[in-house]
Amino acid sequence: MGQPTDIEIARAARKRPIQEIGAKLQVPAEKLLPYGHDKAKVSADFIAAQKGKADGKLILVTAVNPTPAGEGKTTTTVGLGDGLNRIGKRAAICIREASLGPNFGMKGGAAGGGYAQIVPMEDMNLHFTGDFHAITAAHNLLAAMIDNHVYWGNELDIDVRRVTWRRVIDMNDRALRQVATGLGGVANGFARETGFDITVASEVMAILCLAADLKDLQCRLGDMIVAYRRDKSPVTCGDIGADGAMTVLLKDAMQPNLVQTLENNPAFVHGGPFANIAHGCNSVVATQTALTLADYVVTEAGFGADLGAEKFFDIKCRKAGLKPAVAVIVATCRALKMNGGVDKSELGTENVAALTAGCANLVRHIENVESFGVPVIVAINHFATDTEAEVQAVKDAAAAQGVEAVLCKHWAEGSAGIEELATRVAALADGGTADFKPLYPDEMPLFEKIEAIAKNIYRAGEVVADTGIRKQLKEWEAAGHGNLPICMAKTQYSFTTDPTIRGAPSGHALPVREVRLSAGAGFVVAICGEIMTMPGLPRVPAAQAITLNANGNIEGLF
Ligand code: ADP
Ligand code: MG
Repeated sequence: MGQPTDIEIARAARKRPIQEIGAKLQVPAEKLLPYGHDKAKVSADFIAAQKGKADGKLILVTAVNPTPAGEGKTTTTVGLGDGLNRIGKRAAICIREASLGPNFGMKGGAAGGGYAQIVPMEDMNLHFTGDFHAITAAHNLLAAMIDNHVYWGNELDIDVRRVTWRRVIDMNDRALRQVATGLGGVANGFARETGFDITVASEVMAILCLAADLKDLQCRLGDMIVAYRRDKSPVTCGDIGADGAMTVLLKDAMQPNLVQTLENNPAFVHGGPFANIAHGCNSVVATQTALTLADYVVTEAGFGADLGAEKFFDIKCRKAGLKPAVAVIVATCRALKMNGGVDKSELGTENVAALTAGCANLVRHIENVESFGVPVIVAINHFATDTEAEVQAVKDAAAAQGVEAVLCKHWAEGSAGIEELATRVAALADGGTADFKPLYPDEMPLFEKIEAIAKNIYRAGEVVADTGIRKQLKEWEAAGHGNLPICMAKTQYSFTTDPTIRGAPSGHALPVREVRLSAGAGFVVAICGEIMTMPGLPRVPAAQAITLNANGNIEGLF
């Protein structure tokens, strides 16, 4: 019944040698550093030689507020890349790498789905080319050097109660959220409380994804704040002297990974910062490289457009000087019904009235994305349970906004199912109507930036923050960090901080619970609500069912 599973489809892929994929983008074989036959890094010297040549058109794939299952942004990013190639365009895909830990909790990969996938999907979801392991090592080297510095006399006068640099591991392990280190006596150093985050939450990850090159990488690593003294002055990674060695550990990880889709089209898979306490997009290096090599580059931002697209525009595009040409908002009938008040268990049943009500959410996202000067098209990611009347209702809601909504069947049919969207997206990009501008200027005070996002994007009535938070922001401005953009950390399920409030609410209050300075990555994180930086495993983790079969194939992973 139905189509094969993602992993069955991926395993049946007819992959081409990675050099052939590189050749499609005119990357010479000797500039590819192969990791086996189907993965390669693009060499740093080739990338450096391409600098300034970026002239491809950048297409962002974003989405409405989703259901917990995900609405198919990655699947649509991959499908659209294949669709553009199908209609004769030279297109490349840029997406994030997958975190290892979550695979063993709930099922669900990060390589797309159905007949719109990137392969080798097992590798991509597991160790891949080792980038995340390198980030884990670099992050933890710094942690070790901080404790070592204290152990040998603490010349920098670090207040051990105020070491903010934690440790990371790429595993869902709630037992590590808070730990005591240095126990066991004098020889083991000074006992203190700390904890672990998952690797993708590391500031090192965000830096790898925003740095222009290795020099910039080292500079940003050096700027990271790792602790404070008793007088509250910051101690940086540069003060500890770890930035050089960390850069050495990260030098290979900085080179983007080239792989292919099921249809043998090029895909860069590089970097994977958290979409809440970081900006949630693949690396600037990969995107810029792709723009020098392809005429169209399709990329994805994490979460719904209120978070993902806003951060893509205001952090990544602003800082890297990228000018997106088109934004594709992925909508599903399921998510729109949920936004119209339907319970998760009822999403498979036709309900045009609820869907029409839920389209208020889509309309809000259309208005928001257009306010950045980027033209919008809606991709209706087709699920087998969708009815014609429901699909028509989405098209009508978009049309009332002057925007086209195109039904896409790439999950079931591959590129053949997304030709129309590809044609329309290419025409929009070529039309040159985009006039990208970020939401707020660099010089706006930090609190006003938070207000600008809250009021214009979330349509909140006010931002609520106690005086401690406002004072902290002022102090950072005085210390020269006032020109940084804001990285919002909020639930992806709602325009508010309450994940159960769907649709298009307005006039609500946006409470900011905490602010954090990521001085190396170059943003100020505004935390609104509970944000988890170390996930746990569910009662029955997927790991219990994952095994290698007699043929050496992985079972139970997806
Ligand atoms: P996102 O990037 O928005 O989180 P993904 O593209 O990773 O979402 O898709 C989430 C899951 O939904 C994947 O397992 C994918 O196979 C599945 N999926 C996506 N589109 C469809 C579809 N049209 N029909 C059925 N399943 C789909
Ligand atoms: Mg995704």
